[in-house]
Amino acid sequence: MASRPTPAAVATWRFGQAAVRAAWPVLRSGGRALDAVEAGARAVEDDPEVDSVGYGGLPNAEGVVELDACIMDGSTLAFGAVAALSGVRNPVSVARHVMEHTPHLMLVGEGAARFALSQGFRRQNLLTAKSRHAYRNRPLRRPSFDGLAVREDWHDTVGVLAIDAEGHLAGACTTSGMPWKLPGRVGDSPLIGCGLYVDDTVGGVVCTGFGEEIMRQTSAAVMIEAMRRGRSPQQACREAAGRMAERCRREGLSAGAGFLALSRDGRVGAYGVHRAYFPYAVIQRGRERVIQASGILPPRAKHVKGGH
Ligand code: ASP
Repeated sequence: MASRPTPAAVATWRFGQAAVRAAWPVLRSGGRALDAVEAGARAVEDDPEVDSVGYGGLPNAEGVVELDACIMDGSTLAFGAVAALSGVRNPVSVARHVMEHTPHLMLVGEGAARFALSQGFRRQNLLTAKSRHAYRNRPLRRPSFDGLAVREDWHDTVGVLAIDAEGHLAGACTTSGMPWKLPGRVGDSPLIGCGLYVDDTVGGVVCTGFGEEIMRQTSAAVMIEAMRRGRSPQQACREAAGRMAERCRREGLSAGAGFLALSRDGRVGAYGVHRAYFPYAVIQRGRERVIQASGILPPRAKHVKGGH
């Protein structure tokens, strides 16, 4: 019988360090990957300094912080998500409640908020002094969403994947999405097969970056199916990044995106569309590292947010 992989957690971006650090005690003590990824995602949601996730995330065009999040259990393919949720600090935990306490996979907007309150979550103002200031001083021109004028550097999702001592995998993804977005805009992050997919028989994959393009390409589905066909996590990420790079070349976009994967035997892969763009955090045997993923296209203009 194949030996069990060593527990591990990986997370997108440099601030993913806080996520893997919060996930590790759960994994080390023999806990579930599902609890580990939720703990990891919450650590970043709670950090007011991270302006693209949870509390302190940058608001939409009307000054309201709208959050997207999801969580997936690779052992059962159970999935829960919330989108355009406002007034609740930890959307990943609301997503978990959707998964565990409803027959549905996703709740959005006011319905998601009402559900959260019914489950005991507190309503809270998610704007901080810093994000309110950023909103007041936002550029007058809203991102155009035509893929050309949109500021692709204005996002950063924390995606967390973990494998536990039982060999089960789970993933979570949480973001405030694109700043100054149209109210009700939903990105890839809470969408199964776009921002996240996890299957114990294969592995887990998570995406971050320009959500409209990730959705168009169902990048998580592309990656998990590549791994199912025997591709390594690195090859799967390279394939998703390659498709995006091809679109960029063809359409003249500069869509930034990063792809991260963890296989059921504990191998990690990551790729950015651009070089020197996508750092990610890994923890294994208690050792934490931040690694810069390879990329395909030349480095983009300086990435201004997300601590990287
Ligand atoms: N993908 C997210 C979105 O478009 C944001 C990000 O990962 O940077 O909402």
